[in-house]
Amino acid sequence: MPTRYDLDRAELSALLAGEPRYRVDQVWDGLHRQLAEPGELTTLPKALRARLAEELPAALHPVAESATPGGDTVKWLFELDGGARVETVLMHYRDRTTVCVSTQAGCAMGCGFCATGQAGFQRHLGTGEIVEQVVRAARRARETDRRLGNVVFMGMGEPLANYDRVWPAVVRIHDDLGLSARHLTLSTVGLVPGIRRLAAEELPVNLAVSLHAANDELRNELVPINKRYPLSVLMGACADYLRAKGRRLSFEWALIDGTNDRLSDARELAELARSLPLPAHVNLIPLNPTPGYRTRGTSADGVRRFRQRLEDLGVNATVRRNRGTDIDAACGQLAARVELSPRAQRTSTVM
Ligand code: SF4
Repeated sequence: MPTRYDLDRAELSALLAGEPRYRVDQVWDGLHRQLAEPGELTTLPKALRARLAEELPAALHPVAESATPGGDTVKWLFELDGGARVETVLMHYRDRTTVCVSTQAGCAMGCGFCATGQAGFQRHLGTGEIVEQVVRAARRARETDRRLGNVVFMGMGEPLANYDRVWPAVVRIHDDLGLSARHLTLSTVGLVPGIRRLAAEELPVNLAVSLHAANDELRNELVPINKRYPLSVLMGACADYLRAKGRRLSFEWALIDGTNDRLSDARELAELARSLPLPAHVNLIPLNPTPGYRTRGTSADGVRRFRQRLEDLGVNATVRRNRGTDIDAACGQLAARVELSPRAQRTSTVM
């Protein structure tokens, strides 16, 4: 059975065959603009509301919710049809509100430092499952008088490995939830065919490349997909994306103590960032402790030195605040507890 955000407008029209035509607009706007549940659409006759509530069920079943003490970061654990679990993280900043969504349950890319990668791949998420994460976050933001303005596809999974479901979700979030393309960021660990498809799309979304190493030897080790798409090929695709879209591109760099935080790493990274038609911005992510992974994140001093070195080499770099480490919601850490210790996760607030 399709869930409420699986259907496109034509499919919703088919479901509402026999109803007046304006009902399609009422339901579509109610689900997307008003962020309403089918049962809350009071402009509809009661019987139709009840029918839609039954025929358009939710895709995400909340298992747990946790939040930082000030409520700046909220993390949900959702169960999907079939039992797989994914996480969604809502982050309030001083000037913006962002949701980080998952695109796969687990991930097949096998990056050694990533909790999700360690747990392996379960299944792709459907378009409706992705859109519903955004809708739920937008609804929650609205409850606290905030407006969800940004979506980053940086949760569990590799978005471009699930392109055929992720891109329709991007279009829906843009066209129907009303978020601008400049506020949508797709991340990739370097799937070159996906980057090339993105470059041919109409919407100019932001691209964040999880680089983590700037020479092939180290990157083969940290990010195994590099063996298939080495840095020279990846940089070629990034350059073409920039020429096609004119958007700033960012490199994500999880700083791992003694592995990719040396001054020589900064120099190699700066060279790659400056080699693009528009220099890449670098986001530095102090690596979170991940159960089962023996290496540690770079110290705070080391992070500062690395950033300064990049700036000295003419590359803009931001240290990503490790939001939500205390609730395991920082990037590369989603699913650390979910997959490795499902029982422990249930001890947080059950909805
Ligand atoms: S870092 Fe990203 S691509 Fe690599 S295993 Fe983790 S979720 Fe997958």
